[in-house]
Amino acid sequence: MTNTGGGLELAQDEVVTLASELIRIDTTNTGDPDTLVGERKAAEWVAEKLAEVGYETTYVESGAKGRGNVVARLAGADPSRGALLVHGHLDVVPADASEWSVHPFSGAVQDGYVWGRGAVDMKDMVAMSLAVARRFKRDGIVPPRDIVFAFLADEEAGGLYGAQWLVEHRPELFEGVTEAISEVGGFSITLKDDVRAYLVETAEKGIRWLKLRVRGTAGHGSMIHHDNAVAKLAAAVTKLGQHRFPLVISPSVREFLDGVTEITGIDFPEDDIEGAVGKLGALSRMIGATLRDTANPTMLTAGYKANVIPSVAEATVDCRILPGREEAFDAELAELLGPDVEREWIGLPPVETTFDGALVDAMVGSISAEDPGAKVLPYMLSGGTDAKSFQRLGIRNFGFAPLKLPADLDFSGLFHGVDERVPVDALKFGVRVLDRFLLNS
Ligand SMILES: [Zn+2]
Repeated sequence: MTNTGGGLELAQDEVVTLASELIRIDTTNTGDPDTLVGERKAAEWVAEKLAEVGYETTYVESGAKGRGNVVARLAGADPSRGALLVHGHLDVVPADASEWSVHPFSGAVQDGYVWGRGAVDMKDMVAMSLAVARRFKRDGIVPPRDIVFAFLADEEAGGLYGAQWLVEHRPELFEGVTEAISEVGGFSITLKDDVRAYLVETAEKGIRWLKLRVRGTAGHGSMIHHDNAVAKLAAAVTKLGQHRFPLVISPSVREFLDGVTEITGIDFPEDDIEGAVGKLGALSRMIGATLRDTANPTMLTAGYKANVIPSVAEATVDCRILPGREEAFDAELAELLGPDVEREWIGLPPVETTFDGALVDAMVGSISAEDPGAKVLPYMLSGGTDAKSFQRLGIRNFGFAPLKLPADLDFSGLFHGVDERVPVDALKFGVRVLDRFLLNS
């Protein structure tokens, strides 16, 4: 290994500063483009960090002013092999400073943690990727194949002005990419004593934001009225809210549960899988949501005056659909709601790949080298990421942002949560694992 520019030590030192500085750039994404603040500034900052060590970078605004993205490619030894994409989003969800112990955009480094909005979602991984990208360039390292680093806008609002736009309008930036890593995976959970399992995301549920619309006859609120849109909509929403979609054990979920059984001895019997998953503590929240499709009503709109029966009532339902279930889900919905409830939706498809092959071997190898005795298991994310967009280019997607976490940290609760923070040691661990992984993939 060449070691002319400070090597891995320097990368581990600077990852903390990089994460902290990045958190200080407020990149709040409310979903309303008019309230956007720092995406452009963050992208320019990333571009500068890459240019500083010799990268040529491409800055692209994805569909609207200020939606900054940065892409850089590091040439590999074998150009005939498909490239590997390492991507991360620069935007964060809003944070209410009055609820936090430290200011959410302070990037404070204290008590062994880097604190702030984005610390785990996902300025941690952005900083780790940047630290390794900079170290490879400084040390003249040529990875086995091309690596494309991409830092993206708008993930928190679905990527319409980020990954989705880039995939549609600038696919050449991802030329030759066959596989990708990003959030939400690679973190450890402690299942027994000191035995950790690292969860690699191999699947994601699909997202469907469904709008229900019911029409009736307008009229005076004081009269007898048999065609009330509000009452009809309320009935439909109740029906959907109480409906349970069928239990489906996807391959990634099965593999995860088998791994947990191997480590802990806990069984997940076919006839009571949900009951058994329910006993997994904080983990049950995450895994429980990947056993069935869900449809949670989230918004209601109707009426404008107490004594006017409106002619239209609308509801919004957040639906999450297992891989392979989209058609069945539609049919079930149609059957359940009947023809009088109009349905329209926007959404993104489920994602799924298999937990095998050379890239997975490299993940397992790089984790094992840093945490001997650890297990590496696949899992399905109930939420969605930019992987949904990159899947459209035929890319295999994995959530692999490696972090070794303390046993008592409620990691999944930190996503979009108050006092979001990441352990300093976990960031350094992540740099070492990513470094080894990228040298061997
Ligand atoms: Zn994220």
